[in-house]
Amino acid sequence: MGIAASPLLNPTADASKGVGRQLTAAALSRRARQRRQIQGMIGVSYVVDAAILLVYAHAGTTSTAIGPAFAVCGLISVSGYILLSEAGFTERFKDHYFVVPQSIISMIIMLIFTFIAPEVGVMFLCTLFVVFAFASLRSTPWQTTMVWTAMALGLAGLFLLTDRPISLPHETYLERFATMTVFILTIGRCMFIGIFSSAMRESLYKSGLALKEANKRIEELAELDDLTGSFNRRCIMRFLDEEIERAHRTNAHCSVALIDLDWFKRINDTYGHPTGDEVLRTFAITVFANIRGVDRFGRYGGEEFLLLLPDTPHGVALRLLNRLRAIVAELDWSAFSLGMQITVSAGIVTLKAAETADALLARADTALYKAKAQGRNRIVSA
Ligand code: GH3
Ligand code: MG
Ligand code: MG
Repeated sequence: MGIAASPLLNPTADASKGVGRQLTAAALSRRARQRRQIQGMIGVSYVVDAAILLVYAHAGTTSTAIGPAFAVCGLISVSGYILLSEAGFTERFKDHYFVVPQSIISMIIMLIFTFIAPEVGVMFLCTLFVVFAFASLRSTPWQTTMVWTAMALGLAGLFLLTDRPISLPHETYLERFATMTVFILTIGRCMFIGIFSSAMRESLYKSGLALKEANKRIEELAELDDLTGSFNRRCIMRFLDEEIERAHRTNAHCSVALIDLDWFKRINDTYGHPTGDEVLRTFAITVFANIRGVDRFGRYGGEEFLLLLPDTPHGVALRLLNRLRAIVAELDWSAFSLGMQITVSAGIVTLKAAETADALLARADTALYKAKAQGRNRIVSA
């Protein structure tokens, strides 16, 4: 049987193939192994069909040469493909399984044998179903259409341009046995394709779910904000929860500052978004350079940042924040653009007994709002 190629074991293993993509040596060897397995199955199919042809020959339906000739043709086509595959030639093509050329070659073999031995034509014509089913399993709609068109033209040539009496041998008991086997094998092969197709769908679905899970996990594990290198929101919020819990447990002071860049929209509007990004980065570097190792600094969102100051009483935190504010305001921002000035405002809070993170943040937000309302470039205590 001349089935077209399809990855029969691990169906999703190379779902995203592409000529331009760099594949690892392991991926290449896996693909080569899949191709060998497929070709092996195709070769076995040819031999099984040749054996049925010998049964027909034994029944006197056809010549004894047909079976071996069929096997030789099939095995030559399989060996040719294996040679190309082992030499790495097929890897140069997106369709490294050579679905279209292989299907067309298989189809030509079937049509030629139907022409040469029409007395057992049913067997070759039945195999065309399997060739086409395998081809469509692995191909793009365009490739399937090509294979179907080639098959339709070949069949038209066979049926309309020749008058060979294509038979379904069923005279003798042996003929009926061989023809029955042909049908059973054809249906079995189609069933195998169906089962493989649903396994492939299920496997793809499961890989999709696993990928989704993995992405979620990666996101959770990512701790840093891409732009500023400070902790991302998820991470800084986790630290806040942990710090609050620790402070409650040990009765320690815990101060938190919610810092927001002033008139930042204007900075973007005046100097452009990329410059705005650079300002955010420089601001973050400045903060990192002026806080203690135990302090945690993270991006709360946009141009708003959260600074966690463990074991820090309110007065100390206020002094630290005012120093930071002054450093930012006095930085020479003209390197970015002449006349640029950046200031920040912050709301600063110190944890109260039994206070939750939400309540603490709400107080910090109110304090920040007051700092803005009072003219910006200032720190307000809650
Ligand atoms: P205020 O002093 O009241 O805080 O004024 P503001 O302009 O800073 O506040 P507003 O909330 O109106 O604008 C914040 C701006 O921050 C708007 C948004 O485009 C900008 N922004 C947020 N995230 C980023 C970012 O990652 N990069 C850049 N360049 N801009 C950002
Ligand atoms: Mg702002
Ligand atoms: Mg803001």
